[in-house]
Amino acid sequence: MTIVTRALLIVLALASGLNGQNTNPPVYVTLWFDTEDYLLPQDDDATKRLAEMLTRLGVRATFKIVGEKARVLESRGRRDVIAALKRHDIGYHTNTHSQQPTIAVYLQNAGWEDGRAEFYRREVQGVRDMKRIFGVTPVTYGQPGSAWAPQTYPALRDLGIGMYLDEADHVGIDDQPFYYGGMLNVLKMRSNLARMDLSGGASLANGKAAFTKTSEQLRSKGGGTISIYYHPNEWIQTEFWDGVNFRRGANPPRAEWKLPGTRPAAETEKAFQDFEQYVRFIKDQPGVKFVTATELKALYADTAMTRTFRQEDLVQIARFVQKDITFQTLDGYALSAADVFGLLTEAMAGVIERNAVPSAMKVTALDGPARVYTPPTGGTRSTSFRWTAFAQAVRETSAYCRSTRRVPDEIWVGSESLSPADYLATLAHTFDGMIASGKPPAEVIRREGHYTADRHVAQDSPALWGWVIFPEGFHAPRIMELARLQAWTLKPALLQR
Ligand SMILES: [Zn+2]
Repeated sequence: MTIVTRALLIVLALASGLNGQNTNPPVYVTLWFDTEDYLLPQDDDATKRLAEMLTRLGVRATFKIVGEKARVLESRGRRDVIAALKRHDIGYHTNTHSQQPTIAVYLQNAGWEDGRAEFYRREVQGVRDMKRIFGVTPVTYGQPGSAWAPQTYPALRDLGIGMYLDEADHVGIDDQPFYYGGMLNVLKMRSNLARMDLSGGASLANGKAAFTKTSEQLRSKGGGTISIYYHPNEWIQTEFWDGVNFRRGANPPRAEWKLPGTRPAAETEKAFQDFEQYVRFIKDQPGVKFVTATELKALYADTAMTRTFRQEDLVQIARFVQKDITFQTLDGYALSAADVFGLLTEAMAGVIERNAVPSAMKVTALDGPARVYTPPTGGTRSTSFRWTAFAQAVRETSAYCRSTRRVPDEIWVGSESLSPADYLATLAHTFDGMIASGKPPAEVIRREGHYTADRHVAQDSPALWGWVIFPEGFHAPRIMELARLQAWTLKPALLQR
């Protein structure tokens, strides 16, 4: 080995040590603003000042804008504010935010398809106005207050919005980004949420210390994302614009809407100065990078969707779901229970049709079932099925998934039905056995599935719906029941390095 070669090897070893051994795992910070006060004109100026300050600092944030706010900016002739916002990522934060009834209230008794259609009907004009005023389709959405509901996800996809960015306790995995409802979610970030107070005094010092602690903890776990959110109105209001008018279900006519109180000018000024220092501090941290919603979508791209699955992958996946029906994290990608449902159904359908597992299996994105499984009335509950009957059920299920793009509510085997979880466990067991033996069984043994993906979904309680705009005592068990069904789609989002 020559000296030159040896020197080169040392350089390469050093470089791989820096990059490959996670000596400094990345910390991404996503800064977002719910831009929503369409009452107080001073909010327009606060929004502009924040957008321009960040541009000057070389930081791009995500502004989730209310449709009515966008229209108000337009009608007040604030092209300057719109232009300042357009330097950042544009998100959507509903058409009217807190006007009654809010999303979770009008969806509380809705089902899956009707709820999806109703959210779309109420929101489509807001998205159209956002496109007209900002010239782009909003990249992300987040709910007002805690007015979260699973039916919003397919409607958002129909509206061209493919990411969920907010903070709420309804669903999440380990305080990091995840996939749910067919899109990336940055939602239940809790311990990875950082927010400096805007109340002067020790706010800045405390905010810096809290950020340092959060980023160090995250780095010690291998890195990830920190979420920071504000509302431009926080810089100027003594109370929220909507609480003044729509508190506890109140529904005054527009002519009676009141303006919120404003903070003394010196307080507002101090809050802006502190915030600038806070952003500068974060930007200067080594290994910390501000990212927009668009950048998060790329950083957490779902590689399972582009991957090709081979027979040995499917056997491994099938063994896992016989024990637990929830997401699986494999080598650099993750699969939801719905991903596995689709993959194994298609693989088995291939075996039935062509006597072989298809060579290039891909994941098809499926939503979860639309209603809770109810066993059929009458007849008996068989402990096994004839192969021909089960094979027919698999073909039917394959056709159903292709046409509806969701996991069926029940799977019929002749005049009997299986829950989606029992079907998947039965299918996985049968598939595993067929690959091992090379032939279909005479009889398919009915297996019981253990659906556990929903343990990452919150239980319904009034505390979960703590938003001051909801009617007193509001809670929504039906929404959370649908949320548990949609946990078929849940899986962690893995950072692509
Ligand atoms: Zn809001």
